[in-house]
Amino acid sequence: MIEDYIKKKFFEYYRLFSWRIKEPKEITKREFGFLLFKEKIMVRHKNFLNINTLREFIKTIVPSDVYYSSAYYLKPEEEMKGKEWIGADLIFDIDADHIDTLCKKEHDKWICKNCSYTSKGMPPEKCLKCGESKIQTETWICQKCLEKAKEETLKLIDFLMKDFGFKKENIKIYFTGHRGYHIHIDSNEILQLTSDERKEIVDYVMGIGIDLNNVLNNIDEQPSGWAKRVASIIKSNSLKSLTKRRILHEIRSIIKDKAVKVDSVVTMDIHRLIRLPETLNGKTGLRAVKVDLTNLEEFNPLNEAIALEKGEEKIYIKEAPKFLLGGEEFGPYKNEEVTLPMAAALLLICKGKAKLVN
Ligand SMILES: [Zn+2]
Ligand SMILES: [Zn+2]
Repeated sequence: MIEDYIKKKFFEYYRLFSWRIKEPKEITKREFGFLLFKEKIMVRHKNFLNINTLREFIKTIVPSDVYYSSAYYLKPEEEMKGKEWIGADLIFDIDADHIDTLCKKEHDKWICKNCSYTSKGMPPEKCLKCGESKIQTETWICQKCLEKAKEETLKLIDFLMKDFGFKKENIKIYFTGHRGYHIHIDSNEILQLTSDERKEIVDYVMGIGIDLNNVLNNIDEQPSGWAKRVASIIKSNSLKSLTKRRILHEIRSIIKDKAVKVDSVVTMDIHRLIRLPETLNGKTGLRAVKVDLTNLEEFNPLNEAIALEKGEEKIYIKEAPKFLLGGEEFGPYKNEEVTLPMAAALLLICKGKAKLVN
């Protein structure tokens, strides 16, 4: 079984590098979840007293993915209704899945599970042929999409610091090991926010429900928030010759451009299980790695998130687009047998694009 092979490789990583997994703040109040390779079962409601017991558990069961709760509970090991929620970190999820990049036409495709209609690029909400919403996607990890996700992350951080006043030390950024970034805020001010209050924050950064008239009235004198962002592009004297309707249209299009593309569902969910940093992503075999805010602009996940640097593997590749990993370019491949560095081979195997030769 191919899962046995991936699991063996994940074990090699955890045996050598489980020390990289840091103890989450207040570990005893967190719920942990583990997706198992076998039958893709999710083991939930686990709790650990310290980081060592967590590391040992991971080395023993070798899961495909490891998650922990953004929430703090009095009884994290209980079923949901008995957990006694105390509070939760504020989480943002930025993923290429939610960003419409042009290159997706080259490397992503979707298939309707109802009528089997298939097409390239970003999946629609409903099948273009039969209108059903059961759509399966086949996505790829691409340099351009990752760059775009990083740009969105930088935009979000600008909002978090300038508009909300969060401090650098409360903002943690992680590459997810696949197509995006998670941004965690741990700060006493946000701990007890309700789901609706979190939605207001996420709507604000996404530019949803912004009062355009209010923005317009505030772009001249010491503007702040959205008015300041709009004022950096237009000044009211440049708008004099335009109709009110036209002006509001201009403002709306600036907001659209400056808004951050976030998966709002993740931020609103105050019981969310999120990927544990420095564990492996079962979709790629790459690490979920912490990124220093000061290095974010230069950060290249396709170099930094490689888990297994040594060895190589002979694989049979059905089909894979061209890709970059560890500074090397690979592919495109179609129905061929090749020997690749371990990280590249593992990526293709995890993505279901390749199988072992022996
Ligand atoms: Zn269909
Ligand atoms: Zn792309």
